[in-house]
Amino acid sequence: MKKPKFILDEMLGSLLRWLRILGFDAIYAQELDCNTSKNLDNVLIDKTEATSRILLTKDVELAKRARQKSQEVVLLSSDEVKENLETVVTQLNLTANEEAAGKRCPVCNSPLETISTEKARNMVPRKVWKQQEEFWRCSDPSCRKVFWKGSHWKKIKETIELLKSKGKKENET
Ligand SMILES: [Zn+2]
Repeated sequence: MKKPKFILDEMLGSLLRWLRILGFDAIYAQELDCNTSKNLDNVLIDKTEATSRILLTKDVELAKRARQKSQEVVLLSSDEVKENLETVVTQLNLTANEEAAGKRCPVCNSPLETISTEKARNMVPRKVWKQQEEFWRCSDPSCRKVFWKGSHWKKIKETIELLKSKGKKENET
C-alpha cells in the first residue's frame, strides 16, 4: 500500500510534527508560498490537488470546498494533538509502526540519513554523544539538524502503541 501524504491547515503545527515523526510526508499551510492576491484556502486547495495529498483541517467550510473538488479530507475537531492523530490513523486505517518512525525530519519534512558516531561527535552535546550510539542527520542541506533517540523516544513509542491499539479496536468492531 502506498503511504498517504498530507497537507495540513493552519493551527495544526503539533500534528504536523507528529505525522513527520511517525514517518509520514506532511506539509504545512504556513510553509506554502502564499502571495497576497490569493487567500490561503485557495492556495491550500490548489496545492492539495496538485500534489495528491490528503487535506487535514478543522475548518468545516474548507473541508466542504475541498470535498466538492473530490479531494480527500479528514475533518478534525479536537484541540488535543493525540486525539487528532487518532482520528487520522483510524479514519484512514493507517498503521503506525516503530520502523517507519524517526526517518523524517520533524522540522522540514526531508528524509533523515544515518551518520556515524564519529561524524556526530562534533555535532551534538558531549553528554549526548557519550550516551547514544545512533545518530541521524536531515538530508536537506539548508536544515542539517541532527537527531538521536533521546528521552522523547519513550513518548513516541508509547504513542505508537496507543495508535496500534486504536487501529485494532476499529478493526474488531
Ligand atoms: Zn530538516
